[in-house]
Amino acid sequence: MMLSRSRFWSLLVTGLVVTGIVAGNALADEGHDHGGSKSEQKIAKTLASLSPADRQAAEAQRFCPMMVRTRLGADGKPIKVNINGQTVFVCCKGCVEDAKEDGQATLKMAKKLTKASANIAKLGPRDRAAAEAQKYCAVQTDSMLGIMGPPVKVRVNGKTAFLCCGGCRAKAQSNPQATLANVEKLKKAEKGHGHGHDHGHKHNH
Ligand SMILES: [Zn+2]
Ligand SMILES: [Zn+2]
Repeated sequence: MMLSRSRFWSLLVTGLVVTGIVAGNALADEGHDHGGSKSEQKIAKTLASLSPADRQAAEAQRFCPMMVRTRLGADGKPIKVNINGQTVFVCCKGCVEDAKEDGQATLKMAKKLTKASANIAKLGPRDRAAAEAQKYCAVQTDSMLGIMGPPVKVRVNGKTAFLCCGGCRAKAQSNPQATLANVEKLKKAEKGHGHGHDHGHKHNH
């Protein structure tokens, strides 16, 4: 009787200690920021469900060619589409048919996004998030940031704006109001969700 009673207590104490350790670890993990917001974590988790090669390709492309402001992985598992033997990723099922409809334009946009993503990644993490939210140049608003090299960061009336290239700097500074109005407009477009085509426009400098 005595033995089993003491064993009971020892098991109970062990149980409490183990529970305490597990709970402590969970709390420690939660308090630890492994870089990025909740949405970034969700995207990382979704992309982790792809095969290593697909994941790498989706991470490089980073955005959907049909919904250029939608991150791959933000709308569920990205869908792999084969166009003329080349692979592109789209954000959702709804984009598959659109992507195939004008395959050449889709491939072109996917390449553009991959290049832009690589150049934007050269910025620091905070600038990267800001440039991705703006997406297009504050002067040439149809010119995607990162397409002409790393986006150029400028301060206009104490605020930050991103430009597609150094050639847009003088224009951005000569009309601060227009530049900042464009930044606001571009950032608001980020929130809009709806399927539509976004064909790249030629940038003339
Ligand atoms: Zn989609
Ligand atoms: Zn430019």
